[in-house]
Amino acid sequence: MTTLTRSRLSFSQSVNYMVNRAFEHLDLPPGLKEQIMACNSVLQVQFPVRLDNGEYRTFTAWRAVHSDHRVPVKGGMRFAPHVRQDEVMALAALMTYKCAIVNVPYGGAKGGLLISPRDYSDEELERITRRFARELISKGYIGPAVNVPAPDMGTGPREMAWIADTYKEMHPDELNYFASVTGKPVANGGIRGRTEATGRGIQYVLREFFRHPEDVKMADLTGDLDGKRIVIQGLGNVGYHAAKFLSEEDGAKIVAIIERDGVIMNEKGLPVEAVKAYLTEHDSVQGFPGAAYDTDGAKGLELACDLLILAALEAQVTLDNVDNLKTSLVVEAANGPVTFDADTRLRQRGVVILPDAFVNAGGVTVSYFEWIKNLSHIRFGRMARRLDEQHGKRVIEALELMTGKKVPDEFRADLMLQTDELALVRSGLDDTMREAYQEISEARHRTNEVLDFRTAAYYVALKKITRTHLDMGV
Ligand code: NAD
Repeated sequence: MTTLTRSRLSFSQSVNYMVNRAFEHLDLPPGLKEQIMACNSVLQVQFPVRLDNGEYRTFTAWRAVHSDHRVPVKGGMRFAPHVRQDEVMALAALMTYKCAIVNVPYGGAKGGLLISPRDYSDEELERITRRFARELISKGYIGPAVNVPAPDMGTGPREMAWIADTYKEMHPDELNYFASVTGKPVANGGIRGRTEATGRGIQYVLREFFRHPEDVKMADLTGDLDGKRIVIQGLGNVGYHAAKFLSEEDGAKIVAIIERDGVIMNEKGLPVEAVKAYLTEHDSVQGFPGAAYDTDGAKGLELACDLLILAALEAQVTLDNVDNLKTSLVVEAANGPVTFDADTRLRQRGVVILPDAFVNAGGVTVSYFEWIKNLSHIRFGRMARRLDEQHGKRVIEALELMTGKKVPDEFRADLMLQTDELALVRSGLDDTMREAYQEISEARHRTNEVLDFRTAAYYVALKKITRTHLDMGV
């Protein structure tokens, strides 16, 4: 399969070809592979909304359910001017595999609305989102037990709150209405740590990667994240948080940031917080003080660096530019940023790729925590916090009594650490990403042939999905 020339595969073909590589390592009953890869259903809706100027406009949107081997199905809602049905289907498939990789008990789904959000007022966006949500709810494509959206490109807590409220209006007697969507504002059914969860998850994966010297060596690198030179594409939700955490907490240097309108560069490292504030204010990175600028953002992907983090959109590394990449570690923070053909070429060159279906699973992991919180109707840690505090105090008192010395402040702070919601979310996320890394590592080394991370991650996912199909029936 890999010998054919395929420069123009669709997004979902690209995903399927990659998954196919993992199937080669599994021995399944005939036909099961096709069942697992097939997209279960796709709903296309078209609906009118009245704009502020009185004009009516018809919008097109989709929600795809790739697999309901586990329910509810889960996946983000993308509002973007390039959304297509194939894209939504590909993203839904990625969600199926992603959830299995990180042991989150959902099937895969995805939604997309063809819109350029920046062309509409906040009031118009609220009407459009609510109307889209009504279409999906009335057709059984949103509900706490069936199909639970989350934020993706172009959407955030605000849109999720509108969807939850629309669900509540349509189901006034549904006690679990908050669980119909995740990524909501913390004050309205959300969970602390969800907004930054995908970026945080990327940080946890990279920390784990650098704890494995044999993997680090494979990527032609040494040491840990400290001082590593990073080029990042996309400073939206995912890219901003990943870049912020890696530079502020792990000592990495963000030497270039690529945005829609070009690339800014500084060998000494860019201050991520300040760049984000500048981008928000000017809607552009051009003119950011103390940085060189080039309008050709795509060229930024070809800058020499230790890590290239792709956090914008799909199909950014293709046959057209793959040979110009000057990095040995590619991190797929976005979904599908490297096409099948480019992936093949990079693997031949020995470039290590940490794949989307694993690397960016932090978002759905914390969404899972939020969904459980909504179903249990209580904040994590609420009942244990004071008990932990008392316990910490008693340990300190006992230590001081027994030693006759004061417990130093740094230990005191650790002993008094309260298991509040954010601490629990971070702990659960870190554990999830590390455990998944471990499972993928085992899969990579299960035969003499060492598998690449993507094939091993899909192998792990397919084993679990297959088990469900064989145990539960299809
Ligand atoms: P976002 O809309 O918040 O950010 C995307 C950023 O990319 C924006 O800053 C945008 O200006 C920039 N961008 C757009 N086109 C670009 C281009 N050609 N070159 C450079 N930059 C460009 O979206 P997001 O939520 O950060 O999602 C980014 C990617 O991560 C998507 O592929 C999404 O599916 C994936 N993802 C998101 C989440 C999540 O929790 N939000 C979870 C998993 C995966």
